[in-house]
Amino acid sequence: MSERSEALRETVIERAGNRCEYCQLPADLQVGGFEIDHIKPRSQGGQTILSNLALACPNCNAHQWAHVDGEDPESGQHALLFNPRRQRWVDHFEWSNLNPYEIVGISPQGRATVSRLQMNHPNPVSIRRLLDELDIQWRLDS
Ligand SMILES: [Zn+2]
Repeated sequence: MSERSEALRETVIERAGNRCEYCQLPADLQVGGFEIDHIKPRSQGGQTILSNLALACPNCNAHQWAHVDGEDPESGQHALLFNPRRQRWVDHFEWSNLNPYEIVGISPQGRATVSRLQMNHPNPVSIRRLLDELDIQWRLDS
């Protein structure tokens, strides 16, 4: 990795508060490094510049892959995925009242993103539960 891309990576991590910008999972307790995600995929001409980059956990990153949209399960319509550079998390997501470790989409884009990125996959859900059991504060909006 070049010095320039290392500096870019550090800037993205710092801007994100070292947590996944999609599901809010903190990176500092994880074994593997989080990925620098291209919001607009490189395969579609997305550039490696700060305004197109976000920090993503391995789960969100793997499921996003080269997608820019997903299906809103409520309407069956396609919606663009959440863009952490242009949108605020709280406008599109909230924590479930039924299961505090699950994320609920509250907009078409939020719902499409929860579904596409499988943000309530059993793996991140059990990590969230474990962080609570260890009494580690990890939610931004609590
Ligand atoms: Zn994530």
